[in-house]
Amino acid sequence: MTNGYADLHVHTKASDSTFSVEQVLELAKSCGLRAVGITDHDTVDGIAKAVEIAPSYGVEIIPGVELSAEENNCEIHILGYFMDWKNPAFKNKLDELRHSRMERAKKIIEKLAGLNIELKLESVLALTESYTAVGRLHIARAMKLAGIVNDIPEAFRKYLGQSGPAYVKKQFLSPLEAANLIKNAGGIPVMAHPGVLNNYDLIEKVLQSGMQGVEVYHTEHSSGTVEKLKMLASKYNLLITGGSDDHGAGKSKIYLGSILIPYEYVENMKRSLKKEEK
Ligand SMILES: [Zn+2]
Ligand SMILES: [Zn+2]
Repeated sequence: MTNGYADLHVHTKASDSTFSVEQVLELAKSCGLRAVGITDHDTVDGIAKAVEIAPSYGVEIIPGVELSAEENNCEIHILGYFMDWKNPAFKNKLDELRHSRMERAKKIIEKLAGLNIELKLESVLALTESYTAVGRLHIARAMKLAGIVNDIPEAFRKYLGQSGPAYVKKQFLSPLEAANLIKNAGGIPVMAHPGVLNNYDLIEKVLQSGMQGVEVYHTEHSSGTVEKLKMLASKYNLLITGGSDDHGAGKSKIYLGSILIPYEYVENMKRSLKKEEK
Protein backbone atom coordinates (compact mmCIF):
# COMPACT_ATOMS: atom_id res chain seq x y z
CA MET A 1 0.00 0.00 0.00
CA THR A 2 1.34 3.34 -0.90
CA ASN A 3 0.11 6.80 -0.22
CA GLY A 4 1.46 8.03 -3.51
CA TYR A 5 4.50 10.02 -4.50
CA ALA A 6 5.59 13.62 -4.83
CA ASP A 7 8.20 15.58 -6.76
CA LEU A 8 8.85 18.65 -4.61
CA HIS A 9 11.26 20.62 -6.78
CA VAL A 10 9.90 21.75 -10.13
CA HIS A 11 10.36 25.04 -12.01
CA THR A 12 7.92 26.66 -14.46
CA LYS A 13 8.07 29.41 -17.05
CA ALA A 14 7.48 31.86 -14.18
CA SER A 15 11.25 31.47 -13.68
CA ASP A 16 13.62 29.62 -15.98
CA SER A 17 11.86 26.46 -17.12
CA THR A 18 10.52 26.08 -20.64
CA PHE A 19 7.38 24.44 -19.23
CA SER A 20 4.14 26.25 -18.52
CA VAL A 21 2.18 25.35 -15.41
CA GLU A 22 -0.16 23.32 -17.66
CA GLN A 23 2.74 21.31 -19.09
CA VAL A 24 4.10 20.63 -15.59
CA LEU A 25 0.72 19.38 -14.42
CA GLU A 26 0.16 17.31 -17.54
CA LEU A 27 3.51 15.60 -17.03
CA ALA A 28 2.97 15.19 -13.28
CA LYS A 29 -0.35 13.53 -14.01
CA SER A 30 1.15 11.18 -16.58
CA CYS A 31 3.87 10.22 -14.06
CA GLY A 32 1.10 9.36 -11.60
CA LEU A 33 2.27 11.93 -9.06
CA ARG A 34 0.02 12.77 -6.13
CA ALA A 35 1.72 16.12 -5.45
CA VAL A 36 4.12 18.48 -7.16
CA GLY A 37 6.09 21.31 -5.55
CA ILE A 38 6.32 24.49 -7.64
CA THR A 39 9.62 26.11 -6.64
CA ASP A 40 10.48 28.94 -9.02
CA HIS A 41 13.52 31.16 -8.50
CA ASP A 42 12.57 34.31 -6.53
CA THR A 43 8.95 34.25 -7.63
CA VAL A 44 5.61 32.75 -6.68
CA ASP A 45 3.94 33.99 -9.88
CA GLY A 46 3.29 30.47 -11.17
CA ILE A 47 1.44 29.29 -8.09
CA ALA A 48 -1.96 30.98 -8.40
CA LYS A 49 -2.54 29.44 -11.82
CA ALA A 50 -1.19 26.07 -10.67
CA VAL A 51 -3.49 25.95 -7.63
CA GLU A 52 -6.45 27.00 -9.76
CA ILE A 53 -6.10 24.33 -12.45
CA ALA A 54 -4.52 21.49 -10.44
CA PRO A 55 -7.83 19.87 -9.40
CA SER A 56 -8.64 19.09 -13.04
CA TYR A 57 -5.38 17.12 -13.21
CA GLY A 58 -5.93 15.39 -9.88
CA VAL A 59 -2.53 16.61 -8.64
CA GLU A 60 -1.94 18.51 -5.40
CA ILE A 61 0.19 21.66 -5.63
CA ILE A 62 2.71 22.28 -2.87
CA PRO A 63 3.44 26.03 -3.00
CA GLY A 64 7.14 26.75 -2.93
CA VAL A 65 9.97 29.05 -3.93
CA GLU A 66 13.73 28.75 -4.44
CA LEU A 67 15.92 31.57 -3.13
CA SER A 68 19.64 32.10 -3.77
CA ALA A 69 21.88 32.75 -0.81
CA GLU A 70 25.61 32.89 -0.30
CA GLU A 71 27.97 31.53 2.31
CA ASN A 72 31.78 31.31 2.09
CA ASN A 73 31.63 32.59 -1.51
CA CYS A 74 29.45 29.66 -2.53
CA GLU A 75 26.00 29.99 -4.00
CA ILE A 76 23.52 28.17 -1.77
CA HIS A 77 19.92 27.56 -2.77
CA ILE A 78 17.18 27.60 -0.16
CA LEU A 79 13.75 26.17 -0.88
CA GLY A 80 10.65 27.39 0.92
CA TYR A 81 7.44 25.40 1.21
CA PHE A 82 3.90 26.23 2.28
CA MET A 83 4.56 29.95 2.73
CA ASP A 84 1.58 32.26 2.51
CA TRP A 85 2.44 33.10 -1.08
CA LYS A 86 -0.11 35.94 -1.18
CA ASN A 87 1.60 37.73 1.76
CA PRO A 88 2.40 41.28 0.48
CA ALA A 89 5.65 41.72 2.47
CA PHE A 90 6.93 38.42 1.13
CA LYS A 91 5.98 39.29 -2.44
CA ASN A 92 7.64 42.72 -2.12
CA LYS A 93 10.88 41.13 -1.00
CA LEU A 94 10.76 38.73 -3.95
CA ASP A 95 10.18 41.72 -6.26
CA GLU A 96 13.34 43.31 -4.87
CA LEU A 97 15.33 40.13 -5.44
CA ARG A 98 14.04 39.93 -9.00
CA HIS A 99 15.00 43.56 -9.59
CA SER A 100 18.57 42.80 -8.60
CA ARG A 101 18.52 39.79 -10.96
CA MET A 102 17.57 42.16 -13.80
CA GLU A 103 20.40 44.55 -12.92
CA ARG A 104 22.79 41.61 -12.94
CA ALA A 105 21.59 40.44 -16.38
CA LYS A 106 22.26 43.93 -17.74
CA LYS A 107 25.79 43.89 -16.31
CA ILE A 108 26.52 40.48 -17.82
CA ILE A 109 25.36 41.73 -21.23
CA GLU A 110 27.64 44.77 -20.85
CA LYS A 111 30.56 42.49 -20.07
CA LEU A 112 29.77 40.35 -23.11
CA ALA A 113 29.68 43.53 -25.21
CA GLY A 114 33.15 44.29 -23.88
CA LEU A 115 34.21 40.93 -25.34
CA ASN A 116 32.68 41.97 -28.68
CA ILE A 117 29.75 39.63 -28.18
CA GLU A 118 26.53 41.32 -28.98
CA LEU A 119 23.50 40.07 -27.14
CA LYS A 120 20.33 42.09 -26.74
CA LEU A 121 18.63 42.22 -23.35
CA GLU A 122 15.34 41.87 -25.22
CA SER A 123 16.36 38.54 -26.69
CA VAL A 124 17.18 37.28 -23.19
CA LEU A 125 13.98 38.59 -21.61
CA ALA A 126 11.94 37.09 -24.43
CA LEU A 127 12.92 33.71 -23.02
CA THR A 128 11.41 34.51 -19.63
CA GLU A 129 7.74 34.76 -18.84
CA SER A 130 6.51 38.29 -18.13
CA TYR A 131 10.12 39.46 -17.93
CA THR A 132 10.61 38.09 -14.44
CA ALA A 133 13.30 36.12 -12.67
CA VAL A 134 15.89 36.44 -15.40
CA GLY A 135 18.93 34.28 -14.75
CA ARG A 136 22.15 33.09 -16.31
CA LEU A 137 20.33 30.14 -17.86
CA HIS A 138 18.23 32.56 -19.94
CA ILE A 139 21.38 34.35 -21.08
CA ALA A 140 23.01 31.04 -21.98
CA ARG A 141 19.94 30.03 -23.98
CA ALA A 142 19.88 33.36 -25.82
CA MET A 143 23.59 32.90 -26.64
CA LYS A 144 22.83 29.49 -28.08
CA LEU A 145 19.92 30.82 -30.14
CA ALA A 146 22.17 33.61 -31.45
CA GLY A 147 24.75 31.03 -32.51
CA ILE A 148 27.38 32.41 -30.11
CA VAL A 149 27.80 29.02 -28.44
CA ASN A 150 26.86 25.50 -29.48
CA ASP A 151 25.23 24.55 -26.22
CA ILE A 152 24.36 25.75 -22.72
CA PRO A 153 27.37 24.17 -20.95
CA GLU A 154 29.70 25.96 -23.37
CA ALA A 155 28.11 29.31 -22.46
CA PHE A 156 28.84 28.67 -18.77
CA ARG A 157 32.31 27.27 -19.38
CA LYS A 158 33.49 30.06 -21.65
CA TYR A 159 31.62 33.11 -20.35
CA LEU A 160 29.05 32.91 -17.58
CA GLY A 161 30.53 30.54 -15.01
CA GLN A 162 32.22 31.73 -11.81
CA SER A 163 35.61 31.96 -13.52
CA GLY A 164 34.24 33.20 -16.86
CA PRO A 165 34.98 36.72 -18.19
CA ALA A 166 31.30 37.71 -18.17
CA TYR A 167 30.58 36.48 -14.65
CA VAL A 168 28.82 38.95 -12.41
CA LYS A 169 28.24 38.28 -8.75
CA LYS A 170 24.70 38.44 -7.58
CA GLN A 171 23.45 40.32 -4.55
CA PHE A 172 22.85 37.40 -2.26
CA LEU A 173 21.05 36.87 1.00
CA SER A 174 22.76 34.86 3.71
CA PRO A 175 21.21 31.40 4.27
CA LEU A 176 19.84 32.64 7.60
CA GLU A 177 18.23 35.69 5.95
CA ALA A 178 16.67 33.46 3.29
CA ALA A 179 15.40 31.06 5.97
CA ASN A 180 13.90 33.93 7.98
CA LEU A 181 12.21 35.39 4.92
CA ILE A 182 10.48 32.05 4.36
CA LYS A 183 9.66 31.52 8.05
CA ASN A 184 8.21 35.01 8.39
CA ALA A 185 5.81 34.14 5.59
CA GLY A 186 4.78 31.01 7.48
CA GLY A 187 6.84 28.59 5.39
CA ILE A 188 9.40 25.84 5.90
CA PRO A 189 12.99 26.65 4.83
CA VAL A 190 14.86 23.73 3.29
CA MET A 191 18.44 23.60 2.08
CA ALA A 192 18.32 22.68 -1.64
CA HIS A 193 20.59 20.08 -3.27
CA PRO A 194 23.43 20.24 -0.69
CA GLY A 195 25.23 17.46 -2.54
CA VAL A 196 26.05 19.86 -5.36
CA LEU A 197 28.35 21.73 -2.94
CA ASN A 198 30.14 18.56 -1.91
CA ASN A 199 31.59 20.36 1.11
CA TYR A 200 30.23 18.84 4.29
CA ASP A 201 31.62 21.47 6.68
CA LEU A 202 29.76 24.09 4.70
CA ILE A 203 26.64 21.94 4.40
CA GLU A 204 26.48 21.43 8.18
CA LYS A 205 26.99 25.14 8.74
CA VAL A 206 24.08 26.00 6.45
CA LEU A 207 21.85 23.30 7.95
CA GLN A 208 22.29 25.04 11.30
CA SER A 209 21.37 28.46 9.83
CA GLY A 210 17.64 28.39 10.42
CA MET A 211 16.85 25.43 8.17
CA GLN A 212 13.95 23.16 9.04
CA GLY A 213 14.52 20.69 6.25
CA VAL A 214 17.06 19.29 3.85
CA GLU A 215 16.60 18.18 0.25
CA VAL A 216 17.95 14.66 0.55
CA TYR A 217 16.74 13.36 -2.80
CA HIS A 218 17.81 15.25 -5.92
CA THR A 219 18.77 14.42 -9.50
CA GLU A 220 22.41 15.25 -8.81
CA HIS A 221 22.71 13.26 -5.57
CA SER A 222 24.40 9.87 -5.65
CA SER A 223 23.14 7.13 -3.35
CA GLY A 224 26.16 7.81 -1.10
CA THR A 225 25.18 11.48 -0.87
CA VAL A 226 21.60 10.51 -0.04
CA GLU A 227 22.84 8.34 2.85
CA LYS A 228 25.06 11.10 4.25
CA LEU A 229 22.27 13.67 4.03
CA LYS A 230 19.81 11.33 5.72
CA MET A 231 22.22 11.07 8.62
CA LEU A 232 22.51 14.86 8.82
CA ALA A 233 18.71 15.18 8.71
CA SER A 234 18.44 13.01 11.80
CA LYS A 235 21.44 14.68 13.48
CA TYR A 236 19.85 18.13 13.18
CA ASN A 237 16.25 16.94 13.41
CA LEU A 238 15.32 18.20 9.94
CA LEU A 239 12.47 17.34 7.61
CA ILE A 240 13.43 15.36 4.52
CA THR A 241 12.38 16.55 1.07
CA GLY A 242 13.31 15.69 -2.49
CA GLY A 243 12.63 16.57 -6.08
CA SER A 244 13.87 16.48 -9.63
CA ASP A 245 14.70 20.21 -10.07
CA ASP A 246 13.07 20.00 -13.47
CA HIS A 247 13.54 22.96 -15.85
CA GLY A 248 11.55 21.60 -18.79
CA ALA A 249 13.59 21.23 -21.94
CA GLY A 250 15.90 24.03 -20.75
CA LYS A 251 18.59 21.79 -19.34
CA SER A 252 19.86 18.68 -21.06
CA LYS A 253 16.77 16.59 -20.32
CA ILE A 254 13.38 16.51 -18.68
CA TYR A 255 13.69 15.31 -15.09
CA LEU A 256 10.15 15.72 -13.76
CA GLY A 257 9.04 12.53 -12.04
CA SER A 258 12.57 11.06 -12.03
CA ILE A 259 12.81 11.69 -8.28
CA LEU A 260 9.79 10.35 -6.47
CA ILE A 261 9.48 10.74 -2.74
CA PRO A 262 6.78 9.05 -0.67
CA TYR A 263 3.86 11.34 0.14
CA GLU A 264 4.55 10.67 3.86
CA TYR A 265 7.32 13.28 3.64
CA VAL A 266 4.72 15.85 2.60
CA GLU A 267 2.53 14.82 5.53
CA ASN A 268 5.51 15.29 7.88
CA MET A 269 5.89 18.85 6.58
CA LYS A 270 2.21 19.58 7.11
CA ARG A 271 2.40 18.19 10.65
CA SER A 272 5.36 20.40 11.47
CA LEU A 273 3.42 23.46 10.28
CA LYS A 274 0.55 22.55 12.59
CA LYS A 275 2.95 22.26 15.51
CA GLU A 276 4.29 25.75 14.76
CA GLU A 277 0.77 27.17 14.91
CA LYS A 278 0.21 25.87 18.43
ZN1 LIG B 1 18.91 25.23 -7.14
ZN1 LIG C 1 15.78 24.46 -8.63
